[in-house]
Amino acid sequence: MLSKETQSILIPTLKKYFGYDNFREQQQAIIESVLSKKDNLVIMPTGGGKSVCFQLPALLFDGITLVISPLIALMKDQVDGLTANGIPAAFFNSSQLSSDQNGIFDKVINSEIKLLYVAPESLALLSNILNEKSISCVAIDEAHCISSWGHDFRPSYQQLGFLKQTLPNTPIIALTATADKATRQDIVDQLNIPNATQFLASFDRKNIELEVRPANDRVSQIIKFINKKPNEAGIIYCLSRKSTEQLALKLKQNGIKAMPYHAGLSFEERTKTQEDFLFDKTQIICATTAFGMGIDKSNVRWVIHYNMPKNIEGYYQEIGRCGRDGVKANALLFHSYADVIQLRNFAAGASNEDIQLAKLERMQQFSEATACRRKILLSYFGELLSENCGNCDVCRNPPQFFNGTTIAQKALSVISRLKESEATGIVIDVLRGAHNATIIDKGYDKLKSHGVGKDISWRDWQQYIIQLINQGICEIAFHKNNALQLTDFSQKVLFENKQVNLTYPISVIEQAVVEKEPKATKAKKDTLFERLRKLRHQISLEENIPAYLVFSDASLKEMERARPMSKSDFLEISGVGQRKLEVYGDEFIGEIISFMGEKTEKKKKKGDTYQVTYELYKEGLTIDEIALKRNLSPTTIFSHLAKLYADGKDINIYDFVTAEEVEQVRKAKEALESPATLKPYFDHLNAEMEYFKIRLALMILNS
Ligand code: ADP
Ligand code: ZN
Repeated sequence: MLSKETQSILIPTLKKYFGYDNFREQQQAIIESVLSKKDNLVIMPTGGGKSVCFQLPALLFDGITLVISPLIALMKDQVDGLTANGIPAAFFNSSQLSSDQNGIFDKVINSEIKLLYVAPESLALLSNILNEKSISCVAIDEAHCISSWGHDFRPSYQQLGFLKQTLPNTPIIALTATADKATRQDIVDQLNIPNATQFLASFDRKNIELEVRPANDRVSQIIKFINKKPNEAGIIYCLSRKSTEQLALKLKQNGIKAMPYHAGLSFEERTKTQEDFLFDKTQIICATTAFGMGIDKSNVRWVIHYNMPKNIEGYYQEIGRCGRDGVKANALLFHSYADVIQLRNFAAGASNEDIQLAKLERMQQFSEATACRRKILLSYFGELLSENCGNCDVCRNPPQFFNGTTIAQKALSVISRLKESEATGIVIDVLRGAHNATIIDKGYDKLKSHGVGKDISWRDWQQYIIQLINQGICEIAFHKNNALQLTDFSQKVLFENKQVNLTYPISVIEQAVVEKEPKATKAKKDTLFERLRKLRHQISLEENIPAYLVFSDASLKEMERARPMSKSDFLEISGVGQRKLEVYGDEFIGEIISFMGEKTEKKKKKGDTYQVTYELYKEGLTIDEIALKRNLSPTTIFSHLAKLYADGKDINIYDFVTAEEVEQVRKAKEALESPATLKPYFDHLNAEMEYFKIRLALMILNS
């Protein structure tokens, strides 16, 4: 048990160094367990907030906390992030000069740092400080790397078992986002921490909106998507190295700042691309799954899967890289059968082929869901969501079904005429009555059903066929060149007229949505958020640290909302701790004050518009004349006059509303018990009195 005293300083420490007012789910329990010197295994989704679980205890221990982390390239950013919060930290690796390494040893011995980051390969070089006097805690980040069951196995992690032997009384905290049981057990076994307390946090990342779309015209869909989100950082995951490059090129040709990233690039190229992304110099990374581990850039606003991932673990880890700051983020997945086929081929022949295929199938079920997607995801991680999430495409746009029996019958009859020997592409060509070389060579143009589905576009056919496959009305024979084949269910549809329900294809829905929100593409211009974002960017360049380490998007959003103009108010913002208040407070407060000042100026200018109306009124012009002259509507002029009257200006209001009318409104007001809006008055007066008159009358009554 922790002493009351220690317990009582946890929240103040969280606020002082990290700027947060509250712990997230499980964080406090984990921290208390670490401080009680127990061993711990923490399973939390990517972006869930694992770092605080060892960084906060590190501040309270006498000695240092050793952090084992797999990627040297990212240690500097982690240390920069800590430094920005006023926490002394360093990293150690074999490429440093020996004088630098000695400097670090001195800092450890003199208790000048609280955290030391190191890659497992470099541990051997630390033998002179690997003792319980210097080290109070060991944190093992990305702990699943230790397990060959996991998906990021690193041999160098397997030697970490010696730590418990060398430092038997030092608490170990292992952290990972991989939840499956085999991996968990492996971590505990290999680290020699059989009694570790296991903390399994919720995997729900509510702020990430989930969406799946069919993979038609992916590039133009992506460009549209990005154009709606100017300046927002994002990652696009592709299956192959080549497609990362092709996609980045296409985006660049469309004026979008994108760079490819994959294991085939040189170390220098990869490091530069990663840095530029962290520093908001490159907006978008088109990457293979090689990109992303350990990147804790908190302002990644979206993740797109250009191709379908091979399992849900990978998908979830990748989408977890957006919205770490808790602000709204988007995960968009493109689903195509071509990808499914390719992934099946990859799995073929692997020693664990069955497992891989089963996992792929779960991924496919998720992509093809017609019920809340988050429910499906969370159930995969063993969590049950009782309500629909309201933040996935299925919840937002529940599929609208229609009777698609005839459509299904057309497709099935073509499949049958083709003797169940052709894949989707040719089936659609025959449906649409194509006359291309293959069709003519094979004589398919002579088939009776050639052209029966002319009225439906190629794209829509593709989506209908996917739906038919999902419903088991036909199936893909993966071992026979992916030919479409009939099932028992097909017979019922073809011969017993069994009803088939289909949903409208996305193209139709999308059009409706586009028509509904024509102004969505308008970039927000001079908002306070944009101003603060620019200031943050400028500071990031001056200090040479990534912008999100200055403040997260979440903090900027809160500043925009709360508009703190004093230091004490600024400290109230989530993400503002003591050091950030001291270092950045004045600049940000200054920006907020000047923004607010300009806004008041603008308002004053707007105040002049009333004055102009007033002067014309004084010249004796009628409402209509003023409206004409000013190119405004008479209603606007009325509202000006009402405001001028309320401000005590010399307006003869009874020119516009009679005493009788005022009396009518007074009675209505009494009868309706002073409603807040004008509509009830309007209705009560049988729609016979114009709105502006009601407003004026109320103004008189209230003055
Ligand atoms: P993980 O390592 O689990 O992927 P991080 O430790 O990087 O996640 O945390 C994700 C984000 O959440 C970071 O920006 C972090 O500062 C923020 N965060 C962590 N704890 C809290 C908290 N208690 N309140 C608000 N934000 C938090
Ligand atoms: Zn949902």
